[in-house]
Formats: sequence, C-alpha cells, structure tokens
Amino acid sequence: MRLNKNFDLLKDNYLFAEVENRVAAYKAAHPEKDIIKLGIGDVTLPLCSVVVDAGMRAAHEMGEKETFHGYGPYRGYTFLTQAIVAYYVERGIKIKESEVFVSDGAKSDIGNFLDLFDEDCVVSVPDPVYPVYVDTNLMQGRKIVYANATRENDFLPLPDESVKADLIYICSPNNPTGAVYDRERLKKWVDYARACDAVILFDAAYEYFVSDPELPRSIYEIPGADRCAVEFCSLSKTAGFTGTRCGYCIVPHKLGKLNGLWLRRQSTKFNGVSYIVQRMAEAVFSPEGRAQIAGNVAVYKKNAALISDTLKEMGVYHTGGVNSPYIWLHCGTDSWAFFDRLLADANVVGTPGAGFGKNGEGFFRLTAFNDYEHTQEAMRRLKKIL
Ligand SMILES: *Cc1c(COP(=O)(O)O)cnc(C)c1O
Repeated sequence: MRLNKNFDLLKDNYLFAEVENRVAAYKAAHPEKDIIKLGIGDVTLPLCSVVVDAGMRAAHEMGEKETFHGYGPYRGYTFLTQAIVAYYVERGIKIKESEVFVSDGAKSDIGNFLDLFDEDCVVSVPDPVYPVYVDTNLMQGRKIVYANATRENDFLPLPDESVKADLIYICSPNNPTGAVYDRERLKKWVDYARACDAVILFDAAYEYFVSDPELPRSIYEIPGADRCAVEFCSLSKTAGFTGTRCGYCIVPHKLGKLNGLWLRRQSTKFNGVSYIVQRMAEAVFSPEGRAQIAGNVAVYKKNAALISDTLKEMGVYHTGGVNSPYIWLHCGTDSWAFFDRLLADANVVGTPGAGFGKNGEGFFRLTAFNDYEHTQEAMRRLKKIL
C-alpha cells in the first residue's frame, strides 16, 4: 500500500484550530470575560418554519408504504430542479432542468468536479482564498497559479493575459474579502476563459446577499458565460442549511462533454440527497420560503452594515459588509498580532487574514453571523481600542 503523496503538499489545516486554541487559552486565564465571536463562517439563525414543516411532512411520507421513497433521480427530484430553473428564469437566465444537479453542498461539488479534469491542468486561484480550492487541487497534484487580490485592485483580481489557465476559480461575493465582482470585471474573466478555452468554476454560495441590482448574482448574467462557466450554489448561507446539507450546481450543455461526464461521475460515486432534505430545499424556493429566508439574510446584513459603518467612521479601509456577510479590514502588518490584541483588549474574536493566503497578511476578517446586540457591543469595544 502506498499513500497519495500529494497529501504531503497540504499545509496543516490549522487556521480555525489555532483560533480556537488561542481563545481557549485566553478563556482559561480570564474565565470572567465575555467573549464575542465574529470569527465564524457558520450561520447562527435556525431554519425557517416553512422549511421545517416541509421536512416533517416528508418524514411522515417516508413512513407510509404508499408515499415512501427509495433512491431518487441522479440529478435531483423534479420538484426541486424545476424550482431551481424557475429561480434562474425569474432573474432572466434560461437554464434547462438537465443542466441542474442537486447535491449535499457546494464544498463537495467544488472538490468533486475536479474528477473531470486532467492532472496537468493549470489552475488559477485567487489569493486570499477559500482554502478548499487550493487543497482539493493539491490532493490531485495540479499546479496552482495565484491571482493576487490586493487593495490596489479592490480585492477583485483580473486575468493575467501572460498566464494560460485551464481552470479558474472565482468566488463572488467573496469569502473571505466580501468583495463582489461587477459585470464589467466579471466579463473580463469570461472573455479570457473563452479565449484560452478554460473553464470557470464560479462559487455563488453568497449570491443571496447581493441586493445591489447593478451587481451580478450569477455568472450567467454575463453573455457567453454559458460556454465557459459552471456555477456552484448552496443553501447553507442563504437558508441556514449548513447542518441540513443541500446545494446545487449548473453545468450548461454548451460546455460540451462536461454535463454528461458530471452525470457519469455523480451517478457512479453519489446516490443523491435525501428526499426529506430535497423537500426542505423546495420549500426555500416557495414564496413563503423566500420571504422567510430574506428575513434571516436581512438580520445578517444589518450586522454587516453596522460593522462596515463603524469602520468607516473610524477611517479603517475595508471591503465587503454591503452585499456580503463578510468584512475584510486593514489591520496593519501582522494579522495574528491584531487577533491577539482584539481578543485581549476587546474580547472580540475574528479571523487573521494571513490564514487565507499571503495577500491576507495585514488584513482581518469579521463576520455578520451573530445577533445584533452582540455585534453592537463588539463595535463599541472595537472603537475603544482602534
Ligand atoms: C460556506 C461556503 C460554501 C458552502 O459550502 P456547503 O458545502 O454548501 O456548506 C461554498 N463556498 C464558500 C466560499 C463558502 O464560504
């Protein structure tokens, strides 16, 4: 037996473990302190009632002979794929039901989709980055080139014409920076991908946080994207499904063989999302479901706006906080030193930018996933120490 040596290339997944260790050490030394966490990338509000009701009904159906469901269709149940198609059509984007694939979430889709590509593909990944894009490619032995996201380009890097990439990751609204591509800049990537015959893997996990109509929520709003882009979506952040697990991706037929290969891959290695969860996901797309999740997203966006406004008031450079639950702020040189200072002097926890890539050094991520009162208190404390 020989192990996959590519795993040796992975850095220890230490970012959130190190954050936890430092918080635990501080708590042990100062048990009386009230610590506010603005570091987590997980939702805090529960599932909405229409989703829970749909799950209960589906669970009862599964307990009756007449309405029991075994294995479902590979692409997902029609009631859900139709709801997803309708969700796109509403936004003026035509997709076919056979281009929709329901899954247990965007993270697994993003990693699994790499099964379709040769090891020799050159991969373009933004820096700073959601670590999944890097690690999944390293595991399969691919070469990574970084697209530098910096203050100079508003943390929205554009293609480097001197590099020939085969696979291109774009995450907008971005985790960790909260930056959102406008149509003009996104079009540059689409044009570049088409010119060099590359595929864009577009991570739209936060599309529901975009309320500015000038900003795209889907890459298919850009002409020609249906010839070069796959889009990954998730109900995790939009509808609180981080623990329930449901996402979907769009693989246009115009991309040639990819749709058929993905169906082949999924039908070989995946047996679908449970009927109960797909019924819960369907409820998210109903009018009541939309209204209820919009209420949840509004809570997070109010927190994000408060953080962003506080930083503006203090003259601190930052991105995000408007069409995103993330705020990416300039903290000076050493983001771990800032982490320690924020923890000790304000008892607030965030995430050091250095953990997301070399361009993350000097920056710091705060998230809107908390309640308003705690976010307010955290901002009062932040003002005192900055
Ligand atoms: C949270 C998140 C996802 C969603 O992952 P799921 O597996 O659907 O929970 C995808 N991409 C990014 C950038 C995320 O932050």
